[in-house]
Amino acid sequence: MNECPCGYGDYATCCGRWHSGEPAPTAEALMRSRYSAYVLGLETYLLETWHQSTRPASLGLATQAPKPTWLGLTVKRHVNPTPDTAIVEFVARLRMGGGSAERMHETSRFVREDGRWLYVDGDVS
Ligand SMILES: [Zn+2]
Repeated sequence: MNECPCGYGDYATCCGRWHSGEPAPTAEALMRSRYSAYVLGLETYLLETWHQSTRPASLGLATQAPKPTWLGLTVKRHVNPTPDTAIVEFVARLRMGGGSAERMHETSRFVREDGRWLYVDGDVS
């Protein structure tokens, strides 16, 4: 058993499936897999699951300093206003360098195109 960074179970049957190419079935699953990708430094996956209209050229995860230590994820809400759009509200906990733990609360928007959920953008509060 190799615990998935998103905290939902075994990595191979959780986010690992989406990281290896299967389309995530829901926006919540995609959001969890993106959190896990940040933990694992899977920058290519993060860019591939980002809608082209808002996707940055790169995230610079490999050279980021100080690197965050990700402490956990809680999904608070997942709704589908339409079958191909979704809103996922979550709290991620992390620590930057030697600092104290912080909460990142974000309400993210997703769309599904060609059967694949994509991250569009989010409001951090
Ligand atoms: Zn997972």
